[in-house]
Amino acid sequence: MSTDAPNDTYGTPVVPGVAYGPAAWVRRPETPPASAPALAEEERDNAWSRFQEAATVVSNRLSERAKNTIGTASDVLQMTAQMALDKGWQREVRKQIRKQGVPAVQAAMAATDTFVELFKQAGGLMAERVTDICDVRDRVIAELEGLPEPGIPALDHPVVLLADDLAPADTAGLDPERILGIATILGGPTSHTSIIARQLGIPCIVAARDLDIIEAGTPVQLDGRTGRIELNPDADAAQAAVAADAKQRELAKSWRGPGRTKDGEDVQLLANIQDGEGARKAASSQAEGVGLFRTELCFLNATTEPSIDEQADIYRPVFDAFRGKKVVVRTLDAGSDKPVAWASVPDEENPALGVRGLRTSGIDPDQLPHQVDAIAKAAEGRDGATWVMAPMVSTISEARWFASLARERGLIAGIMVEVPAVAVMAEQFLAEVDFVSIGTNDLTQYTMAADRMNPNLATYTDPWQPGVLALIARTAEAGRKLGKPVGVCGEAAADPLLACVLHGFGITSLSMAASAIGAVGAQFSQVTGEQCRAAAEAVLSAGSADDARAAARQALGA
Ligand code: PEP
Ligand code: MG
Repeated sequence: MSTDAPNDTYGTPVVPGVAYGPAAWVRRPETPPASAPALAEEERDNAWSRFQEAATVVSNRLSERAKNTIGTASDVLQMTAQMALDKGWQREVRKQIRKQGVPAVQAAMAATDTFVELFKQAGGLMAERVTDICDVRDRVIAELEGLPEPGIPALDHPVVLLADDLAPADTAGLDPERILGIATILGGPTSHTSIIARQLGIPCIVAARDLDIIEAGTPVQLDGRTGRIELNPDADAAQAAVAADAKQRELAKSWRGPGRTKDGEDVQLLANIQDGEGARKAASSQAEGVGLFRTELCFLNATTEPSIDEQADIYRPVFDAFRGKKVVVRTLDAGSDKPVAWASVPDEENPALGVRGLRTSGIDPDQLPHQVDAIAKAAEGRDGATWVMAPMVSTISEARWFASLARERGLIAGIMVEVPAVAVMAEQFLAEVDFVSIGTNDLTQYTMAADRMNPNLATYTDPWQPGVLALIARTAEAGRKLGKPVGVCGEAAADPLLACVLHGFGITSLSMAASAIGAVGAQFSQVTGEQCRAAAEAVLSAGSADDARAAARQALGA
């Protein structure tokens, strides 16, 4: 297998693009000794004041940087700035200093350890905050010790940046002119490094286990489409690959819809959105409609169930942004990594396998009818098609119940295919509903038995895994047989190569972040429908995710 080549290392590709340049490492600072002689009573007030001053300096510095940054990067910096002033964390530090006489540096370390443990136990999104709090700790300790702020070194030439993991505050300050590409040993497709790299358009690979073999200064070629990092590549070939990639990116920028293959086969490209504002932005992209409206994200801060009217007011702006167009609304996917106070069950042992999505109806049977009422109310009088689908369906009776609920209110009824049982019996499920949409993020998680939030499992949570592709193909085939639409709305749809494979399987619509539509549309404009079908056939005999990628690339001439 190509992954055995001694000069290459592999990770999980998260932002497409090719980069070539010398490697530069971001090293975390040396860890100070965990214990130190206790402070005398009279030294403790001073130590506590020094800590507070250091935390305030760090927070102000990050806030200042947040003001000079835009978008998600600014939010990340602001959030990290607030963490430095977090009352719970500071209370723990004060206790260590005042009560036990622990010096400020060691007190910051001990308090952070406590929180790291808590975050890890909470799992999911909370576990992803571990990098944030450790970064805040390192910055405050550097300030206390009069050392330079840790993070990305000052750069006088463009580099490919390598790190164990980048702290959110580091990624937020990245300069795309200087950082050609990023590779990290830790992290996953949803970590901050991935999110910010995606926003900045910097090719990025995470979970690259053997990155340590690369010494600073070594020329590397990083391919954010395949996950390959090649050491000491042929310089001419590497530069040619970068130039070809730049051309693709230009095509993506200038691509104008609608989605269509080179030989004229239509490909419906839709947007994933989470609120009215996102819908308005998506409406100004090339999206033909909305393929996934994640309604639960509107309610993460609500403590009680909003009334039907209140909910309708939240949904209506999405319909208004896409007048006359298809909008697929997903009902509440509460639970697991998206806790909604009024709908999900707290403290489950294993929340991803627990009461989530449609299953919350077992706890509160009124909640889903209320939500479908609200969706129907918000859609009253609109001229576009209003589709509604339920997440985390796993039995036929659930599909049947949901379909009647939606149809009684005049809505087009569907379910998501996230649980392998549904893909395996796709024909029977499709017979009950008007359409299905495959959520490849969860379908991959459940097929591969690998937590999608766990950075150590990124190789498994890869939608190119042949087992996942086989289930998608099976579902598409069932749709073709019954003449019903089968969409894909997970991250897989945003991967230009995989999108072609999905079209080749017979998937009828692809829904993704609006920012990904240009690259996917541009890719389709360069291939024929026949090539997509050849790629689809080729991946089905691949024995690994890497082989599937390579087979698709070859069939598509990409
Ligand atoms: C999915 O599982 O692929 C999906 C689209 O749903 P979410 O990512 O919101 O779980
Ligand atoms: Mg899902």
